[in-house]
Amino acid sequence: MFGKPPNLEEARELMVAEQLVKRHISDPRVLAAMRTLPRHRFIEEKLWRSAYRDKPLPIGHGQTISQPYMVAFMTEALHLPDDRPTTVLEIGTGSGYQAAILSQLVDQVYSIERIEFLAERVKQLLPALGITNVDIKVGDGGYGWPEHAPYDGIVVTAAAPQIPAPLIAQLKDGAYLVVPVGPKQNQYLMRLQRQGDQIVEENLVPVAFVPLLGEHGWER
Ligand code: SAM
Repeated sequence: MFGKPPNLEEARELMVAEQLVKRHISDPRVLAAMRTLPRHRFIEEKLWRSAYRDKPLPIGHGQTISQPYMVAFMTEALHLPDDRPTTVLEIGTGSGYQAAILSQLVDQVYSIERIEFLAERVKQLLPALGITNVDIKVGDGGYGWPEHAPYDGIVVTAAAPQIPAPLIAQLKDGAYLVVPVGPKQNQYLMRLQRQGDQIVEENLVPVAFVPLLGEHGWER
């Protein structure tokens, strides 16, 4: 009467094939991480049936876990090097899923979340999934995390009205910053690369993210 329980592993495989590979996500490290990590564990159990659908889902406190394709796209867009020890900074820990995906590609992830409840939940969840290379702190991510800078990549998973300047200063030479920038309702995903003293900017795709709040984001 309630239908067959969903096979989450099958749903995940299908998600990778239909939503990622068909839309040209091709970095094998990204595909392997998306294939391996259980997205359903990052959301409430009552939503598990929807865990591998092509959409963001609520995680409480008015926030969302991003659409799987967007997580894969942003991760791939960072062009993280794989020939040396690497660190990456994420702004907006949310459910912890993006941080967990990044943890499979780099040596150390630093992630900042302004909502303490969400940060604490992720601090419990990641070790339970065997992930031990993600450090999380509660705070305004618009300032970055200068103590661990410079980074091999920085990803912002909330939308800023303009590019937060402190983040640009925390990029290694050659590294990329990926950030949604624009009005509250819809933005462009921007990618910036530090090339010595120069910053090269490109607009990638239109997106719709929840707002980055704080000093370098929106007021509440
Ligand atoms: N990366 C997340 C994931 O994998 O689930 C999705 C993040 S959700 C779309 C955006 C997150 O950014 C929210 O959890 C929100 O609280 C957080 N956020 C908004 N402004 C922030 C700020 N200034 N500093 C840190 N986190 C912020």
